[in-house]
Amino acid sequence: MTDNITVYWHDRMLDHEPPKGAFKYPSTPIVAHDEVHPDRPERVENILAMINHSFPERSQIVEPERATRAEIERVHSSEYIDWIEEFCADGGGRIEDTTTGLNEATFDTARVAAGAAIGAVHDSMEGSQDLPYALCRPSGHHAQPTCADGFCFLNNAAIAAEAAIDMSADRVAIIDWDVHHGNGTQEAFYDRDDVLFVSAHHDHGSWHPEYHPQEGSLEEVGTNRGEGYNVNVPLPPGTGDRGYNHLFDRLVDPIVSEFDPTVIIVSAGQDAGAADPNGRNLVTRGGFRQLGSRVKTLADQTADGQLALIQEGGYQPSHLSFATLGVFEGILDRRVDLEHFGMDDPFEWLDEPTDLVDSWLDKAVDHHRNHWSIE
Ligand SMILES: [Zn+2]
Repeated sequence: MTDNITVYWHDRMLDHEPPKGAFKYPSTPIVAHDEVHPDRPERVENILAMINHSFPERSQIVEPERATRAEIERVHSSEYIDWIEEFCADGGGRIEDTTTGLNEATFDTARVAAGAAIGAVHDSMEGSQDLPYALCRPSGHHAQPTCADGFCFLNNAAIAAEAAIDMSADRVAIIDWDVHHGNGTQEAFYDRDDVLFVSAHHDHGSWHPEYHPQEGSLEEVGTNRGEGYNVNVPLPPGTGDRGYNHLFDRLVDPIVSEFDPTVIIVSAGQDAGAADPNGRNLVTRGGFRQLGSRVKTLADQTADGQLALIQEGGYQPSHLSFATLGVFEGILDRRVDLEHFGMDDPFEWLDEPTDLVDSWLDKAVDHHRNHWSIE
């Protein structure tokens, strides 16, 4: 029974600031006002507000230690670490033609975030009865051993997995339900059989030849001893609550159970949420409640309850609170009755359309073919 949340958090993580522009891209004359980058501090501030409001007696904040150079080098090359440190010291900026940018604080904030992930995993392996949750900003799962990518700089989940192995774990399972492929984590463990990586994500493929060459396809299964231990599950837009439940029934539960991990790390990006600007998978607070419940059950059944939650993406700042609340409700097996919202989700205003869309389009085509050449 898990009753409380230990939140690994430090205000320093608010100081990371990617460049403003047209959403995640550089400025353009066709919009009069630059937007803040989607990785805005409000994301994590809202999660903190949700925790304070919903679990005031059942949460504690622990300030993490910064990850050490040795801990980071378990995943990232020393050349890359030197590069990012110098890039920040020079003031930062956007990395070439990518959507990823840094300011002078980013390297230090990334060290704090990686330290939060290590703290959460240590906590879990020391038999904590609480849920260890690393509220990481910046996120980590796109960061590869030799490059930054997708708003990520140091791979928090991978660094935490290495810390778990260092501590005595024989096998670590990383379940990544962020709506984007955890390509950095895949890359870190691609030839390894002691870390199982399961990623469910949009079928977005490679998005940059140099910074994100991985496809996230079914065919990327790992190499050598790691063959089979990299499990990608591409999902269609609009997968929804029912689709994610089926994902666990048919793939995640049986594969993780067979792997029999010492500890389970969840790369918990709630950008599969119903209104997320970087995802379209329509998962509601109730759907995330279900996901939380399922990883908790899986951890109890396969890993003596050893479970650590690491924050990844989630870009609609207010829905991220409701979505992450759902994850906690599922893990703690506790419903939070919110004033005005009850157990509901304010973004759950349309049901998942996936079962309906074809028949609706059939009807529209039938209707408009009186005037247009369509079939
Ligand atoms: Zn994401």
